[in-house]
Amino acid sequence: MNKNRLIIHQLLDSNVAHVQGVPVASMVDLNGDWNWQLFQHMLPHHVLLRIAAIRAPLPLLGADNVGWRGGIMDRFSVKAAYKVRMADTPQVTDKVWEIIHKHRGLQRIRVFLWLVCRNKIMTNVERGRRQLTTDTYCPVCNSYPEDVDHVLRSCASTAAVWCSIIKSDKVNEFFSLSISEWIVINLTKPDYFVSHEAEWDILFGALVWYFWKARNALVFNGAVEVNRSILELSRQLRDVAVRALVLQQSNQVVSTPLMRSPVEWTPPEQGWVKLNTDGAPHAISGMASCGGVFRDHMGEWILGFSKFIGVCSVVDAELWGVLVGLESAWSHGFRKIIIETDSLDVCRLLRSDNHSQQGLSLLMHLNRLRHQD
Ligand SMILES: [Zn+2]
Repeated sequence: MNKNRLIIHQLLDSNVAHVQGVPVASMVDLNGDWNWQLFQHMLPHHVLLRIAAIRAPLPLLGADNVGWRGGIMDRFSVKAAYKVRMADTPQVTDKVWEIIHKHRGLQRIRVFLWLVCRNKIMTNVERGRRQLTTDTYCPVCNSYPEDVDHVLRSCASTAAVWCSIIKSDKVNEFFSLSISEWIVINLTKPDYFVSHEAEWDILFGALVWYFWKARNALVFNGAVEVNRSILELSRQLRDVAVRALVLQQSNQVVSTPLMRSPVEWTPPEQGWVKLNTDGAPHAISGMASCGGVFRDHMGEWILGFSKFIGVCSVVDAELWGVLVGLESAWSHGFRKIIIETDSLDVCRLLRSDNHSQQGLSLLMHLNRLRHQD
């Protein structure tokens, strides 16, 4: 169960063909615990740690059913599958995305900048790549292939506009950075390339946007924008955006700071015991454990427990806390128990009749305990 791979895949990878077709139930001993001796030699340590965090299935908990572990609910959805897929992809673009997301310019410029970074705008080079055209050259200068860099930065007429505002000692760097770096620096370091332009991040976005618009106007309508007007238009757009920002800030309601009510432990009624549980994975190692205490109506400590779980999610760790707590309550003869947990997710899962895949095996064990006489 490395991330989202099934145990059986791990087993097949390990060339252990003789366990093919053997049900998971056969890996459980008579006490309902994993029979580690049967399979621990076949699986790597990190997989065993994940299995340790799953409560072994019991036949009395019901028949097997098909589920989708990727989402919170058991139903498969494209969204959940996408999330699972993306969780395995290194998020190298996160920083760029965050910076563009925080861009103070118009939303459509924000989206455009993101498309630029993803190399997704329809330049002639891109159209050629998609076999929509055989001519990938720039329709303005006819000298170079029209790629993102050429359209937004280095086509002669565009470059002339940039050069009129960029510091002379920064020109080389301005034109040699990768497109993502170029966008990031311009959005985050307003004084780096220019010295006399107010709100450079907003103006930069507006310029890039208008260069693209002008080119589209030329290709589709034959309209030739004078580049000088692009600079003026961009400055106007910047001024509008700045005014909107100022207005937005002055209209913002000053909200009262969030008052946290002090959380106070209250004792249960006489004859009841209260169980407080908690569970969490370690932030770095991912190794989870849980623990809890039982107290009586006087607030006196009755019993405590702690358990190492294995590798699992926060919710699973919290559920383990409740399960181990209820099991020790049962074995100590407590029958009137109030459970307190600080996890809203756990409360929701315990209250819900919906068979969620999240913590499924733990929930089934918990339900069995709740209905035990
Ligand atoms: Zn050109």
